Amino acid sequence: MTRPIRATIDLSALRGNFAVARQRATGASLWAVIKANAYGHGLMRVAEALDDMADGFAMLDLDDAVAMREAGFRHPILLLEGFFEADELPLYAEYALTPVVHTLEQAEMLTSAALPARLPVYVKLNTGMNRLGLTAEEFNPALTALETTPCVGRITLMTHFADADLERGIDWQMASFEEATQGCNHPASLANSAALLRYPQACRGWARPGIMLYGASPFPQDESAEQIGLRPVMTLSSQLISTQQLQPGDRVGYGGTFTAGQPMRIGVVACGYADGYPRHAPSGTPVLVEGRRTRTVGRVSMDMIMVDLEGIPDAGIGSPVVLWGEGLSVDEVAAAAGTVSYELLCALTQRVPVAEKA
Ligand SMILES: *Cc1c(COP(=O)(O)O)cnc(C)c1O
Repeated sequence: MTRPIRATIDLSALRGNFAVARQRATGASLWAVIKANAYGHGLMRVAEALDDMADGFAMLDLDDAVAMREAGFRHPILLLEGFFEADELPLYAEYALTPVVHTLEQAEMLTSAALPARLPVYVKLNTGMNRLGLTAEEFNPALTALETTPCVGRITLMTHFADADLERGIDWQMASFEEATQGCNHPASLANSAALLRYPQACRGWARPGIMLYGASPFPQDESAEQIGLRPVMTLSSQLISTQQLQPGDRVGYGGTFTAGQPMRIGVVACGYADGYPRHAPSGTPVLVEGRRTRTVGRVSMDMIMVDLEGIPDAGIGSPVVLWGEGLSVDEVAAAAGTVSYELLCALTQRVPVAEKA
């Protein structure tokens, strides 16, 4: 037997979540966002499972995009940061990839390129997030230049929302998008998961859902994944590999950050920060042992965490443990650890074996 930690990927949940996105984004075409190894779930596995549902795949790495084409994927592929050097452009043409153009430098590389095929291009406008995108002043001249460039094909206008999951919402960014793109006849691509679920007006053209496909809520404080109708795709599970009996005053783990107030039994789980479990998860982070909800105690170490076995008298070596996934939302674990589901899912490390749910 090997170390008992596993990530199990439920592809039927993934497809169900995609169906929710399809239903909620009425009329929009859908990019399945599979950057960061499909948020830790495995790029090829997820692409294959969604190939007959998604209208295209959005990612970051040219190598991944080329590998997908080599593997036979035919849908549009969008590279969310575009190209970094002009010498990548022939590969975009050869493999029919769609770059995002978000700087004047990229626009100039493209307008001065000689390519054997026309590239579909996304032109990204910065509407206030101040991460990627052309300014309103840069936008129109760049767009005009691209429109008259022989190797540029279909153009789509894009922006990204900073607050779609928050109180401030998207109206302020929608207003600057409308203003800058007035009179342009190109389709748009606006919505991430949060905007797709919350703002029908953002669901035109091509929406770009990511996190919701993996069964986490884009706004867990307001609406849980379950309430949205999403099911967890990744379940991170392991087992107890030891137990300890504590007396009042005994401390647990590095730094002794947890002290027993009464006699108590704890279990040791084969899962630590080198597996991707967040080291900053404090005592009290929820965890399932034998399907029962309990809490972590003490500091997360590289290979192990300790859990309270109060109320789970049958638990012992070999007892099943769920760190997140089925029965325990990754959103809850992320909230306890002061982060977001995205970070936990992406942080799963190489040493964790990944299997598909039967
Ligand atoms: C990651 C990303 C998305 C997906 O966002 P979610 O919040 O995961 O739905 C959409 N668009 C862009 C530009 C992104 O970088």
